Parts: sequence; structure tokens; C-alpha cells
Amino acid sequence: MEIRSAKYLISSPKVENCPEPTIPEYAFIGRSNVGKSSLINMLTGQKSLAKTSNTPGKTQLINHFLINNEFYIVDLPGYGFAKVSQSTRAVWEKMIADYLQQRPNLVTVFVLIDSRHAPQPIDLEFLRKLGEWQVPFNVVFTKADKSTQRDAARNARLFIDTMKKEWEFIPQSFMTSSVKTLGRKAILSFIEEMNKGEENS
Ligand code: GDP
Repeated sequence: MEIRSAKYLISSPKVENCPEPTIPEYAFIGRSNVGKSSLINMLTGQKSLAKTSNTPGKTQLINHFLINNEFYIVDLPGYGFAKVSQSTRAVWEKMIADYLQQRPNLVTVFVLIDSRHAPQPIDLEFLRKLGEWQVPFNVVFTKADKSTQRDAARNARLFIDTMKKEWEFIPQSFMTSSVKTLGRKAILSFIEEMNKGEENS
């Protein structure tokens, strides 16, 4: 898929404030600093569509981007901030839980996992929540250029193997590097296919 246009639309504090759910939508989430903004910029081919290196916890909103006038990319605030208060965390949890469970046009959530690390409990817990809520998701391993191909592949395999202990069905995953533009084509083709499916449904 070619990206012909990508523009920032709106930031919403609640699912009720999000744009009309008239076109398919793909959300991105992960631990803070996982490389989410960089990935969204890489996918859309725009240097600063999503803000990179934002202060942890600052952007606690649901950010919508309109792509090709055809679908939305949604940048969700990350989880796992060490420094945020209980009340900020509770607001985040409610916003994310409501959004993920109530957004009717949400096709899938891309959950970002840092390919430099062995499986982390916080990521596995988040996937468990998605399972509980029956929200479809895909896994995106980030920062592949930061370790050897072998180490990144090993961590990805370990993560998938860990998932297999709890999940019957393992969704498609992607290895990416925003620096090397790795994984762009695979994710955009995947979205294109999903969009076609939405058209026919
Ligand atoms: P976010 O907090 O998840 O949105 O993460 P950012 O996109 O702001 O990235 C966090 C840090 O990781 C920044 O310093 C980025 O430059 C760096 N980063 C993100 N993606 C990559 C990548 O694919 N490769 C490398 N080498 N660095 C990355």
C-alpha cells in the first residue's frame, strides 16, 4: 500500500470523544519508550507525525491520524511508567479499557514489544487483558537494528513460545526497525488486506 496522505486529526480524552467510527481503525500501544512514535512515523513516512521521545506520561490521550482518507491509525498512551501516580494510572486504565472494548471500528491492536529483551511480565499481562476483553491484536517487535539479527529473532521466538503456553491461537507478528525501515511493507500490506476484509463485511 502506498501512503498518499497522513494527517493528525484529534486527541481525545475518552472513547466518546473519538471521531465517528465510519472507517477501519488500527491502534498502536506498548510500554513507554518501546518505539511507538518512531514506528508510526516510519509507517506513514512522516518524520514527526507522532511525537517521538515525549515525556513519559505526558500524552495521556487517544490520538487519531487519518491515512489516505481510508483508515485511522491510533496512537494510544503507553503503559509501564514508573513515575506516574495511582490516580493517573487509574485514569489511563479506564480510558484504554473503554476504548479497546467499545470502539466498534477497531480492527486490531498492534502491541509493540522491544526486541532487545526477554519476555516481560508487563507485556504478557497486557495481552492477557486483551484476551479477557476479546480484542484482536498483533505483535510488533521493535528496534531490531539495536541487537544482532540473531538476538532479536531469539527474543521474538521466546516471546511467541511464552504466549503459546497461554494462547491457543497466535496472531501474526512483525519484526521492525524504524531506523532501517524494516517491517514497513509487511505491516502496510497486512493493513491493506484487513481493510479489504472490512469493505466486504
Ligand atoms: P515511544 O515512547 O514508544 O513513542 O518511543 P519513541 O518512538 O519516542 O522511541 C524511544 C527512543 O527509542 C527514541 O530515542 C528513539 O529514537 C528510539 N527508537 C525508536 N525506534 C527505534 C528503532 O527502530 N531503532 C533504534 N535504534 N532506535 C529506536
